Amino acid sequence: MRDSFARKIDYLRISVTDRCNLRCRYCMPEEGVPALRHRDILSYEELLRVAVDAGVCKIRITGGEPLVRKGIVDFIAGLARLPRAPEITLTTNGLLLAEQAVSLKEAGLSRINVSLDSLDAARYRQVTRRDGLAQVLEGLEAAVAVGLTPLKINMVPILGVNEDEIAAFGRLTIERPWQVRFIEFMPVSSDLDYSPGQLYPAARIKADLQQLAPLEKVPQKGILGPARIYRLQGAVGTLGIISAVTESFCRECNRLRLTADGQLRPCLLSQNEIDLRTLLRAGIDDKVLAKLLQTSVTAKPERHCGGIGCGIGQRRMQEIGG
Ligand code: SAM
Ligand code: SF4
Repeated sequence: MRDSFARKIDYLRISVTDRCNLRCRYCMPEEGVPALRHRDILSYEELLRVAVDAGVCKIRITGGEPLVRKGIVDFIAGLARLPRAPEITLTTNGLLLAEQAVSLKEAGLSRINVSLDSLDAARYRQVTRRDGLAQVLEGLEAAVAVGLTPLKINMVPILGVNEDEIAAFGRLTIERPWQVRFIEFMPVSSDLDYSPGQLYPAARIKADLQQLAPLEKVPQKGILGPARIYRLQGAVGTLGIISAVTESFCRECNRLRLTADGQLRPCLLSQNEIDLRTLLRAGIDDKVLAKLLQTSVTAKPERHCGGIGCGIGQRRMQEIGG
């Protein structure tokens, strides 16, 4: 599918649940948020139907925390059997990864992104409001052992919280073939524990990494995607910098999003949703579904308005999938 700005849209991000076993302070409040009712979440059969008609070549499963939803392994196996055999990836906080890594790989998952914001147990607890660093580290090892690689780590640096760990995360790539990705904090809702002033911009992230060793730009093939990729001179792994706020990557955007409650969203920061859940349950046929997918693609804005103040509407990051 092509959008109105000639971008090829071949990547679908599916949020399979709004529930989560962490409470990261940049994502949701301590008390969590009222959970969607089970019947308001798309069933795996409904998700598979959308995935078939989208005809994309890459699907990312996200959430909430996707590994807390029952049946996720069978769902992945179902996606892997789709006619176009799309590449299937997943973003997780890693808490349940060690116990599920083998079955995820066997089901057909290709790769995994693990979100991790501190390498210090006390600080991990401070950011996520839960214990779990040791479990996540076990999860990383398990993912590598079963070949869910190249492993990617997502880190959100927040000023005054964990930005002093950028170098430590960068160093992980010196001897490991991992990609450590630094994601700019998006202050998308007003009830988060961190303020817009704590956004640590891409330019500063890059400058911190340059203190470690010269940074080489890694050439990217095809669609660039949101991350700018670098390598510390002599390192085995790579570094990604994702600057959704200070330097938009909209020109390279190739994705559509499906929220946990079945709303098709053309952009993380667009509220122009199509209510697929209602339509699917009203019995629309494949032709209409395909048309709606194209309508959403056509509705993709050329660029979002810049992050701060742009907002994700009434929704939270864990409903849309980050
Ligand atoms: N629970 C999974 C996890 O944390 O990896 C998947 C869902 S989470 C919403 C997806 C990604 O969004 C994570 O890498 C997380 O760090 C990121 N994220 C959440 N809130 C964010 C925010 N306000 N700014 C930037 N990234 C955010
Ligand atoms: Fe949960 Fe992921 Fe949000 Fe953290 S970022 S609270 S792990 S959904």
